[in-house]
Amino acid sequence: MIPVAPHIAAMSPYALAEMEVPAGKSLISLSQNESLRAPSPLAAEAAARAMTRAELYPDPDWTELCQALGDLHGIPTQGILCGNGSLDLIGCVARAYADEKNAVLAPAHAYPFFRTAAQIAGARFDTAEEDGARVSVSALLAAVQPDTRVVFVANPGNPTGTRLTRSEIRSLRAGLRDDVLLVVDEAYGEFADHLDEPSFDMVTRGDTVILRTFSKAYGLAGLRVGWGLFPPEIAAQLRKVMNPNNISVVGQAAALAAVEDQAYMCETCTMTARLRDSLIGRLRDSGFRVADSFTNFALIRFDSVAAARSADQALQAEGVFPRSQAGAGLSHALRVTVGNPEALDLAVGILKAWSKGARP
Ligand SMILES: *Cc1c(COP(=O)(O)O)cnc(C)c1O
Repeated sequence: MIPVAPHIAAMSPYALAEMEVPAGKSLISLSQNESLRAPSPLAAEAAARAMTRAELYPDPDWTELCQALGDLHGIPTQGILCGNGSLDLIGCVARAYADEKNAVLAPAHAYPFFRTAAQIAGARFDTAEEDGARVSVSALLAAVQPDTRVVFVANPGNPTGTRLTRSEIRSLRAGLRDDVLLVVDEAYGEFADHLDEPSFDMVTRGDTVILRTFSKAYGLAGLRVGWGLFPPEIAAQLRKVMNPNNISVVGQAAALAAVEDQAYMCETCTMTARLRDSLIGRLRDSGFRVADSFTNFALIRFDSVAAARSADQALQAEGVFPRSQAGAGLSHALRVTVGNPEALDLAVGILKAWSKGARP
């Protein structure tokens, strides 16, 4: 046996959605927060064109994509790094800044990959209580230890769907020591951009990173393109731990075309918000507990773990897959991605029937 590094041996593999479709049913995945529709046709065309250059390595500096993102958001191009999905960037931050001598902190119901990233880095992973399923700035600040090095907060949050205001994020930052890196993961930022001023200006402090992705509102989850705005010193360190050719020519071309088609992305957000709010309204009318969401999913909270499991089984029996949230410390909840209207009608119908019948 080749001995594996002890901190890796102690880890469990990251749990992705498991979907076993019953015989005779077709798969309706509402489990991974993918976009309810295909990406912009312009992105698909750009991807096809990029295939004709696929014998070449991709641009290691993502030059055109960074330029487009810089122009769109009014941010400095030099501070942008792109990753093979934002998961890649989360992992790079943890590998570069956390180690066995310090700790990573996140809210109790945070995105589970923050824990995985901390474990890969060999760091301790601490959590702070939330207020219901909403991040509590005061609890996070109270949970900071002398060896805390990185704080991860997704805003809006996954799987909670709740969000902190810009001023709450600012007061979190203001309450952290200067030697604690704050990473604000805005994977769902595009769904909430109309509610607040952007947070990108916080990066100029030198101790804060903002992450975004093409996987959600832009509908490019399958191409693996994430990005973030980083202080220059941090970007220089991350470059050392990154795969130097991390995004394919196809991914870069499609993401660039998607940025340039803001109308399409905004339309996706509008469609998603309308369907989401209708989904939440219908579920509430049927007696389900669902918090307001600022994302492309809704979190349904059941009275017990057994009830959540039973509802999950009722959905799965029809080929509909929500996502159980045990990994985020919410075993009594199911997360339902805002899919197409037919998929949502089916899910609501099954849940209504379940609530009238086999409720444990
Ligand atoms: C979906 C999601 C990601 C992962 O995004 P990729 O860019 O596809 O790697 C990161 N953070 C949060 C909070 C997410 O929900």
